[in-house]
Amino acid sequence: IWDRLQDDLRSIDGQQYGAYKRLLGKYEHSSPTFTLSVDHVQGDAYASPSRVRAVIPWQETGLPDEYLQSDIRRIALCDFVTRICAAMIRAKHLDQNVSGGGGWSGPKGGAFNINSPGQEILPRTSAMIDGNDTIELRFTVSLPAAGRTVLGQQAYQILGVNLVELVKKSLFYPNLDQEQLQLHVQTAENQQSLRHQLAEHNLTAFIADGSVLPRASGASETPMDSANVVPFKSPKDLKVELLRADGTNVSGMGVPRGVTLLTGGGFHGKSTVLEAIQLGVYNHVPGDGRELVVTDPTAVKIRAEDGRSVTSVDISPFISNLPGGKDTHHFTTNDASGSTSMAANIQEALEAGCKTLLIDEDSSATNLLVRDQRMQSLIHNEPITPLVAKARALYECHGVSTIIVIGGLGDWLSVADLVIGLDSYVPRVLTKEAKSVVEKYPSNVQATLDYGSLPNRSLQVDLRGLRAPYATRKHFIVLKPDAKSTVDDPSEAEAGIDLSSLDQIVEIGQARTIAKLLQGIAQRTADGAVPVVSLMKSEADAIGIEHCLPTTLEHGDLVGVRRTEVVAALSRLRGLNVS
Ligand code: ADP
Ligand code: MG
Repeated sequence: IWDRLQDDLRSIDGQQYGAYKRLLGKYEHSSPTFTLSVDHVQGDAYASPSRVRAVIPWQETGLPDEYLQSDIRRIALCDFVTRICAAMIRAKHLDQNVSGGGGWSGPKGGAFNINSPGQEILPRTSAMIDGNDTIELRFTVSLPAAGRTVLGQQAYQILGVNLVELVKKSLFYPNLDQEQLQLHVQTAENQQSLRHQLAEHNLTAFIADGSVLPRASGASETPMDSANVVPFKSPKDLKVELLRADGTNVSGMGVPRGVTLLTGGGFHGKSTVLEAIQLGVYNHVPGDGRELVVTDPTAVKIRAEDGRSVTSVDISPFISNLPGGKDTHHFTTNDASGSTSMAANIQEALEAGCKTLLIDEDSSATNLLVRDQRMQSLIHNEPITPLVAKARALYECHGVSTIIVIGGLGDWLSVADLVIGLDSYVPRVLTKEAKSVVEKYPSNVQATLDYGSLPNRSLQVDLRGLRAPYATRKHFIVLKPDAKSTVDDPSEAEAGIDLSSLDQIVEIGQARTIAKLLQGIAQRTADGAVPVVSLMKSEADAIGIEHCLPTTLEHGDLVGVRRTEVVAALSRLRGLNVS
């Protein structure tokens, strides 16, 4: 039966490239048993690569059925298998550069490609379990050519030999490292279990003792070399114990709900703690150092983002009386300032259900965070009410917590429930000291008691005249006009959505998922605007982190993403319709 693949390739050897289309369909392999499904064949050697799947009956793999018992186990298993494949393909590529040997590399980077994961364990369409019956791997393959003709022999090396090796090594017991796999699954389960305990303990975040928070460098997400790390150690007053999935205890620092300041001298590790917290919405791989750091899954990192487009956002809690009478209940601009963009980012996060704001002074607009006494005296018609005056009201009226890194803005001491000071990376509780400082040097924060209601827009996404949006980088979605479209304004020739201020997007596959969902949302809103809340709900099954992704055959490279980031991307679309 597998011979048929060889026969087919032999028969088209030397023919025009288009003859590869003949491969479309299924081929059965025995020992190990799996089906090769050729779902898409590229039109020529330089077109986007062909797509194939290897579909394996679950029973054949010899893997224990317990991995099928929950979503998180399935996700972790598939994530693990994807990593094994990606690592093997990478190793073969490197190897080939040395030995020049067969069928792993090709034009544009690789004969084979599978979406290569980072530090987070996420749902991925690169490997998927269907019911309890099959598990499949999805690859892209560049089918080889000499000029415009088929290279049948080489294609057989790729599909008939190398692919079989990949499947064997990544899915079949005993080739698969069972211990590593088990650790991977357990690690994910533990994190999920810890995250689920946050609410009952009234916490927004938890950092286990011994965690390694700093990264190898500013350009790397892998952990810092252990020789240089000060492992995390909770202050006594904040120590809590949570349970792992297997029932054993973990102790660490619990950050209660409310307004929390992370402070300390420059370079003492404040931003590193906040960054670990902001990625605590995800599960991390074993050895990451942050695999016992968990955060309220609705937490959103907020930044200033001047230049972004804003469509009809109510930023009136923070900003009113703009010059020229510009409406701040329905604030719209093509080019927001630092403070208006940050106000919009906060309001949009709240609209999408955020219950914890994460803010770093380093990446904020100062005038949205504070306004000191001298400026209050000097400037009377300031349109901004800073967050320092609203953070308490936000917590009391809407139950939204704030964790903020503060190095230089002492006014914040007077509104904090908890002040954590970092001294050479070691956290200490400084709440009492902060209280006496506030008594000694009073500030004049005019805190308001009322926050107003949370925004709830209805959105309509109009992509008419645009071809399918797609992600070109982790932080950019391109919206290209259709060849037939009537858009002739050159500035619109290649519009896009800039996601670079969304610090909680960790992989390009997530941006691809957002681009894909954007099309769905455009269709769903074709007949009229839909409230953000219901967009969030109705897309839940598709994009909740613990749920499935769109799984039609064209997708092998999508990665799970929160609804929050999808709505954030939508909100940045220029030319959005809001009612
Ligand atoms: P801050 O925001 O307080 O100025 P950062 O969080 O940027 O400080 O950290 C400053 C430097 O210290 C960074 O290079 C970071 O990698 C390193 N660092 C942070 N935490 C630790 C730690 N626990 N052990 C060792 N180095 C750390
Ligand atoms: Mg910093």
